[in-house]
Order: sequence, then C-alpha cells, then structure tokens
Amino acid sequence: MTNHKYSLTGYHKEENEELWLWDDLPELDMEIGYKVGSLLHYEHSPFQEISIVETKAFGRMLVLDGTPQVTAKDGFIYNEMITHIAMAAHPKPQKVAMIGGGDCGPAREALKYESVQQIDVVEIDPRVIEVCRTWMTKETGQEREGLIRTVLKDGYKWIQEQKNMYDVLLVDRSDPYGPAVSLYKPQFYQYVYDSLTDDGIAVFQSGSPYYSGILKKTSSSLRKLFPIVHTYICSIPSFPGGIWSFTIASKKWDPLEADLNGLQWQDAKYINPEIFQASFVLPQYIKSALEEK
Ligand code: SAM
Repeated sequence: MTNHKYSLTGYHKEENEELWLWDDLPELDMEIGYKVGSLLHYEHSPFQEISIVETKAFGRMLVLDGTPQVTAKDGFIYNEMITHIAMAAHPKPQKVAMIGGGDCGPAREALKYESVQQIDVVEIDPRVIEVCRTWMTKETGQEREGLIRTVLKDGYKWIQEQKNMYDVLLVDRSDPYGPAVSLYKPQFYQYVYDSLTDDGIAVFQSGSPYYSGILKKTSSSLRKLFPIVHTYICSIPSFPGGIWSFTIASKKWDPLEADLNGLQWQDAKYINPEIFQASFVLPQYIKSALEEK
C-alpha cells in the first residue's frame, strides 16, 4: 500500500483515493486509522490545525493537530464522565469552570445541576468553539445556557488570576502537545488548588491508563496537594485502547462517600449511580502503576 501524505497532519490519500486519518502515536510505533467519509472543514488557526471529518463509526469528529478530540457518536461518554462525578460529589456546586472548551459538552452537562449559577469555559482558541458551533453541536436552546460564559484565554495564564473562586473545576485538556503543554506543568496543579474554594473539587483528563504515563504523573502531583485524590475510568470506543482515565482531586468531599440522590443522570446515556461507583474500581495493572514509586 503506497500512501502519499495529504497536506493535513495525519491525513493520507490511499492509492484508490480513499481518505484516511491516521492518529500517530510515535512513542508506541502505532497509528490508528479512521476512514474519512468527508473532510467537512479544515484550517490552521494561530494555535493549531483544526478539522472536522465525517466517519462511519463515530459520525462527525473534531480533530486537532491530527488527533481526534470528540465525536458525535461517543462524545457523550467523555462529557458525562468528566463532569458528573465532581458535580455530584460536591453538595452544592455554584461556581464551575472548565479549561478547554471545544464543543462545550461538559458545560452543557454541568447545567443540569440546579445549584449552578455560573459556568466559565476557558478556551485558548476561539476558532475551535466557532467551528464546533457550525459543525458539531449547534445552540441547544437549553433554558439556562446563558449561565455559560466563554473566556478566550490561555488556561495556564487565566488560572493564575483565580483565587478561592470555584466549587468545581474541570480540566478538559488536550494531550500534552501544542497549546496544552502548559496544562501539564507541575506548577499548574498548585494554581488549580489555589483557584478552588475551601471545599472545591477538580477533575483532570489524565489519558489512556494503558498507553500513557500521564495518569501516574497527574495523580502523584495531585497527591502532594490534595487530601483526597482518586482515579476513575470509563470506556470510550474512539480513543486509543478504549479505556480512559480521569483524576479527581478534592479538598473536602470524597466522591466515594457522595450522596448519589443528587446525581443528574436521568437523561444521561452513560453515567448512572452504579457506573458512578464502579468507575473507581480499577484493574490491578492500573493500581500497581499508581502505587509504584
Ligand atoms: N470535551 C471537549 C469537547 O466536547 O469538545 C473537547 C475538549 S479538547 C480535549 C481540549 C480543548 O482545550 C481544545 O478545544 C483546545 O483548543 C483547548 N486548549 C488547549 N490548550 C489550552 C490552553 N492552554 N488553555 C485553554 N484551552 C486550551
């Protein structure tokens, strides 16, 4: 099979003129291929390459610098899992923020909590939000959508100005390349701690527990700061390896003791009270990796 590279990162035209997106994982000598039905949009913003593609398996996908970020068909899993665990663990989340906007799925999930008064979505790249509004999720008409405020700033700089502000902070960061590299610096975790109220909770996208070392690094950085830190996992078919991790860090409320009557799962497609609890049950290889010095 002779591929010649298309002009975009990760896209190859095959001999028979099929277009494929190959998500390159060079440290593993792996590429994961998605056949592209149509390339709906592409551009180079000042921050990254943005494209939207249509695929058979996952519907529309937002792709940044050649890596899929969220898909129309299974994006609900990521959005629900990064959001609801912290929102239900906190008894009354009022001020909520997320770093990394994209299609703003987690913000829409957070709106389901009646106590919420403000949701700040901090996104470095305005073009990602605009492109997602055109090609992914349009205005949803949710009654309380006005509570979502978009802040167009680098999350690493923005967080340093926030002190004792947020009940829940979701770090919906891309993998550590391009504009997201700063969101993995050790100092970033201290800034997140300082931005939270005295009983605040933060959640971090912490990568594939099988393929990447992000989880271990995130967890050990947070353990130095927060009294309560847990890893939880879910299955996301479009992500490499399928299994994905999040790390939750809390100053006071332990999600393992949460009153799940508050969990807003009635119209959810992935999370429910059983999944909430089961997501903290880890395979031994993940537990062992987290315990390793
Ligand atoms: N779950 C999201 C969705 O539903 O679309 C996907 C978010 S995507 C994983 C990460 C987002 O973080 C991208 O939109 C990217 O532009 C943004 N981002 C990357 N680095 C950032 C930074 N330093 N500050 C703020 N946002 C950043």
